[in-house]
Amino acid sequence: MESLTDSEQPTSSQPQVEGSQSEGVDLLSFNRAELAAFLKERFGAPAYRAEQIFQWFYREGVQDFAQMTNIARELRQNLAQAFRIPEAPVLSRQISNDGTRKYLFGVDRGGAVESVMIKQPKRMTLCVSSQIGCGMGCAFCRTATMGFHRHLATSEILRQVLGVVKDAKNFDDMFQNIVFMGMGEPLHNFDNVMRALSVLVDPKGLAISPRKITVSTVGLVPAIEKFGTSGVDVNLAISLNATTNEIREELMPITKAFPLERLIGALRALPVKGRKKLTIEYVMLHGVNDSADDLRRLPKLVAGLPAKINLIPYNTNAGLGFETPSEDYVRHWQDVLTRKGINTTIRWSKGQDIDAACGQLAVKNLEKRKKHSIALNVLESVGAQTRVNSNATLSSAS
Ligand code: SF4
Repeated sequence: MESLTDSEQPTSSQPQVEGSQSEGVDLLSFNRAELAAFLKERFGAPAYRAEQIFQWFYREGVQDFAQMTNIARELRQNLAQAFRIPEAPVLSRQISNDGTRKYLFGVDRGGAVESVMIKQPKRMTLCVSSQIGCGMGCAFCRTATMGFHRHLATSEILRQVLGVVKDAKNFDDMFQNIVFMGMGEPLHNFDNVMRALSVLVDPKGLAISPRKITVSTVGLVPAIEKFGTSGVDVNLAISLNATTNEIREELMPITKAFPLERLIGALRALPVKGRKKLTIEYVMLHGVNDSADDLRRLPKLVAGLPAKINLIPYNTNAGLGFETPSEDYVRHWQDVLTRKGINTTIRWSKGQDIDAACGQLAVKNLEKRKKHSIALNVLESVGAQTRVNSNATLSSAS
């Protein structure tokens, strides 16, 4: 697959209106306000037409404009000519022994992305991707080995959700939560992810409670600040994974641009409303970031943040040379942190046998790129004032 340079990626907050006049523009590339503006400009239609179309498509599942019967016949015909409604073809679906399902969805221009329906004791969580590959270069993550290929369009993100909703009927289940923790760094693809979120939480769109959606980030500070004032009220998770800049730089190159002090400062300044939760994720890599000193430093680092900690024992199946700590040791960390007054949970990997667990997602035929140079490009693209130079060691797995 031909990869795009970062400068070729969408940066505008305008929707990517793709498609020629003859094939139509992609209906899923708009949020409701943008669709209303488009309809007004193209057809002189009032704003409530966008609400009606959203209602039919996202709430009722109607994909044929001819069946949107509360819209005037002539406008319906015009809409059918103006828009296309693409679906994400399921290229493969694997089902784990534990009930977790991994989907490989086709996307535009011949690419593919993975989404995971994670089976948990009392609920299911949908994990979606925001990019093809990822340029953040985290040493413990297989997606990083693919390098950065491109951002997903808003439509390609929404199509994952709609594709899983459709297939869930075959299993008589449905997700209760959505996490942006699949392939890619969501806040690197800020505009498209935000637009997808606005459709997901729109009462006339997919009407998912913002409390049920979590966006995870490595800590792109300017994007976190923008997220805080965006008005999109979903939860945020920070992938922390170290208590010193030295170790975090080795594990997560982004630390060179945004050291821990700056990241934690941005989190402290983040307006966390009553409903919005902040989660600190900590992938435990035995002998790397799980020392007694780390356990002493972690509560101090997050002190005063309205956050819970999610411990994630490293999944050795990711095959990147790290070790997982014992279950007893992970529970010891949980006990100590809980005694310090920090709500601490443990996330055990699901879907390990189908490579669907945390850190395992990587579309196999795309595992080609070298992450070292990609991470440098991405750091530059996010405007990082960084100490990285071209000879720097970016991660222990580079
Ligand atoms: S952990 Fe997330 S941000 Fe880091 S390389 Fe993997 S997908 Fe990218």
